[in-house]
Amino acid sequence: MWLVRQGPPAAALAEIRHLIALESHYEPALVTVSVLIATLASFVSLDLAKRVRSADRRVALAWGVCGSIAMGSGIWAMHFVGMMAFSLPIELGYGATLTALSWVAAVAVSGVALAVASRRRVTPARIALGSALMGGGICAMHYIGMAALDLAPGIVWNGALVAASALIAVVASAAALTIFRLLRSVSERQGLAWQGAAALAMGLAISGMHYTGMAAASFSQGTVCRSAGALGGSSLSAIVIGASVLMLGLTLVTSILDGRLRDRTTRLAASLSQANAELETLAFRDALTGLPNRLLFENRLLAAAGRLERAGAGGRLALFFVDLDGFKPVNDSLGHTQGDEVLREVAARLRGLAREGDTVARIGGDEYVLMVEASGPPEQCRAQAQRLVAELARPLRIADLEFVVSASVGVSVHPDHGAADKLLAHADAAMYAAKRAGGGRCVLYHPGMDESAFDQLSLQTELRQAIEQGALELHYQPKIDARSGATVGVEALLRWHHPERGPVSPAVFVPVAERFGLIGALGDWVIDEACRQMGVWAEAGMAVSVAINLSVHQLRREGLAAYIDAALRRRRVAPSQLLCEITESVAMDDLGASLPVFEQLLAIGVYLSIDDFGTGYSSLSYLRRLPARQLKIDRSFVHDLEASADARAIVQAVLGVAHALGLSVVAEGVETAGQCKILRALGCDELQGYLFARPMPAAELPDWLALRSGQRFADEIEPVLAEEQRVADEAARSAENAA
Ligand code: C2E
Ligand code: MG
Ligand code: MG
Repeated sequence: MWLVRQGPPAAALAEIRHLIALESHYEPALVTVSVLIATLASFVSLDLAKRVRSADRRVALAWGVCGSIAMGSGIWAMHFVGMMAFSLPIELGYGATLTALSWVAAVAVSGVALAVASRRRVTPARIALGSALMGGGICAMHYIGMAALDLAPGIVWNGALVAASALIAVVASAAALTIFRLLRSVSERQGLAWQGAAALAMGLAISGMHYTGMAAASFSQGTVCRSAGALGGSSLSAIVIGASVLMLGLTLVTSILDGRLRDRTTRLAASLSQANAELETLAFRDALTGLPNRLLFENRLLAAAGRLERAGAGGRLALFFVDLDGFKPVNDSLGHTQGDEVLREVAARLRGLAREGDTVARIGGDEYVLMVEASGPPEQCRAQAQRLVAELARPLRIADLEFVVSASVGVSVHPDHGAADKLLAHADAAMYAAKRAGGGRCVLYHPGMDESAFDQLSLQTELRQAIEQGALELHYQPKIDARSGATVGVEALLRWHHPERGPVSPAVFVPVAERFGLIGALGDWVIDEACRQMGVWAEAGMAVSVAINLSVHQLRREGLAAYIDAALRRRRVAPSQLLCEITESVAMDDLGASLPVFEQLLAIGVYLSIDDFGTGYSSLSYLRRLPARQLKIDRSFVHDLEASADARAIVQAVLGVAHALGLSVVAEGVETAGQCKILRALGCDELQGYLFARPMPAAELPDWLALRSGQRFADEIEPVLAEEQRVADEAARSAENAA
C-alpha cells in the first residue's frame, strides 16, 4: 500500500524493472545482414536519386514510384531482419497489419527522400524539412513495426533512448541528403566511391537508429506475445532477406543500366549537336576563309534590319561591298594555292578592320561585304571605306613575292540610301561605279546609280527571252584589202532590235549577258548562225570569210573548239574561212588560261584575230606568244590619225611589230578617205569602217558585193578624197572670212 500511495522513486523503479525484465538476445548473423541490407538500400537510394532528376518528367515519376518502393522495402527489410535478430525467452510473432503498415511508412519515407533529392536546388532549408520528415517517417516505421509485436503487458520505453533514436534518424536523413547534394558536384568516377562511403555511413546510421530504438524497449517478466502465431520464424527471415536483396539488386542493376543508356544518349545527343554545328559551318561558312558565306550574311542582314526596325527611328545600317581589282591576274600567274592565300589575307585584313558586332562575309570569288550596325552617317562611312581601300592597297607578301591587289568599295547606308532590303544592291551598284572609275577607290551610293543596275536586270530578262525566241540577228561588216580594194571577208556583229527600246548596242547587252550567265547561250547562237550563213553563201557560190567575236567567258567554257568544229562540219564550211576575234585585254590578261584554248582552235584550223588592239595594257612582246594571225587596231587610234602625230606614230609602230611577227593588220573604224589614205601609206593590210560599209543584214551582202566587184580602189577613194578636200577648204575659207 505504501508503495502505491507514495509512488516509488524512478531509480528504484528501474531497479525493479531490471530485476523483473525479460532477458533479450540478438542473433549476430542476422544483425550483420540487417546492417548490410541498410547499406545496400542506402547505396541504391543514392543511385536512384540521380535518376529521379531526369529531364523527362514521366521517366522521373516512374523512377520516383519504383524507387520509393524498392528503397522503402530495403529500409523496411533492414528493420524487419533487425527485429528478427532479436529474441526473447518467449515465442514472438508479428501482426500482419501493423507489419504491412510499417512497410507503407518506409515506402512513404523513401518517397519524401527522393522528392527532396530530385529537386534542382537542394537548399539547407529543404534539407532541414526533408530530414525532419524522413526522420519522423523512419521512427514511425520502426515503432509501428515494434507495435506489430503485440505484447502484453506492453513494452516499457526508455524515453531518453527513444529520443536518441529519433535524433539519429533525423541526423542520418540530413546526412544522406547533404551527401547527395555533394555528390552532384563530384565527377562520375569519384562519385561512385563517395556513394559507397555515404551508403555505408547511412547504413550504419539507420541500423544505429534501429538498435537504439530497440535498446529503448524493455520487456516485463511474464510478458506474452499475442501475435505469436502470426509472422515469424527463421524461414520468413530468409525469405525477407532474399526478396529484399533481390529487389535492391535488380533496382540497382536497372538503375545502372539506365544510367549507362542515358550517358550514351547524352553522348549521342552531344555528337549529334556537334554534327549539326559542323553541318551549319559547312552551310553557312566559307570554307576557304572561315567567314560567313552569302547565305549567313543575308540572314544576318535580315536580322539586323529587323532589329533596326524594332528599335524605331535613329539607327543606321551600313554595307561596304568590296571587290578586288587585280585578283584575277594574280590568281592566274601565281596559281590557285597562292590565290587562296591572297583571299585569306584579304579576309584577315577586313576582319582586322571590323569592330565587334560587325559582320565580314565572303559572298563571291573575290567579293566581300562588311556590315556595320549602328553606323555613322554616310560621310563617316566614306572615311571608313577609305580606310578599307588603303588597307587593301598595302602590298601583300606571298611566296616571297610582293604585289598589290587593290579593291573597289561601294558603300550604302540605310535609311539614308533607301530601304534595308536594297542595301546590298545599292552597295553593289556603288562598287561597280568605283570599278568603272578605275578601281582602287570607294564610292558612296547615290540614287540613279542602281537605275543602271535595275536596267541591267530587266535587260537580262528581256535578252534571255530574245535569245530563246530567236529575236537576235547577225549583221555583217565587210573588210577591205588595203592594197587591192577587194573584199576579204566580213565581221559578224550581233544586233538586237528591242520592241520598245529600239536597237540595243552589243556594247551594252554583251556585258549584261556576261554578267548574268547568258553569254554561253548567246555565244553558241552566234557560232551556229555564222556557220549557217556561211553555208548558205557557199551554196550560192560565194565563199565569204566570216569573223566572229568571242567573249572571255566563252573561252573559259569547256569544249569551245569542239563546239565550233561541230558547227563548221554541220554546215560543211572550211575552218580556214572562220576567224575568231578576241579582245586584246582578254587575250593577254589571262594568257595561261587562254593559250590552251587558242591552241585548240588552231588545231581545228580556225584562225585568231586580236581585236581592239591598243586598248589593253599588254606589251607588244606578248604578241609573240599568241598564235594569232591578225591584229585589229582599235578605232580610237584610227579616229585620231589625221589630227594626231602621236596616233600616227603608234599605228606605225604597231604595224612594224605586227608585220615583223607575221601578223596582218586591220584598221577598225575607218570613216574618212583621209584616214584611209594614211593607213594605206603606212602599209596597213585591211580596212574596215563606215567609209566602205556599215554592218548590214546578210540578205544585203550579195548585192553590196556585186556592186563593188571590179571597182578599183582608186576609183572609190579619189572622188571621196577630193570631196573631203573641198569641204575642208571651204571650212577654212569661211573661218578666214569670219576672222
Ligand atoms: P568590235 O568587235 O570591235 O566591233 C566593231 C565595232 O565597231 C562594231 O560595233 C561596229 O559596228 C563598229 N564600227 C565599225 N565600223 C565603224 C566606224 O567606221 N565607225 C564607228 N564609230 N564604229 C564602227 P558594234 O556592232 O556596236 O559592236 C560593238 C562591240 O560589241 C564589238 O566591238 C564587239 O566587241 C561586241 N560584239 C558585237 N557582236 C558580238 C558577238 O557576236 N559576240 C561578242 N562576244 N561580242 C560582240
Ligand atoms: Mg570585233
Ligand atoms: Mg574591235
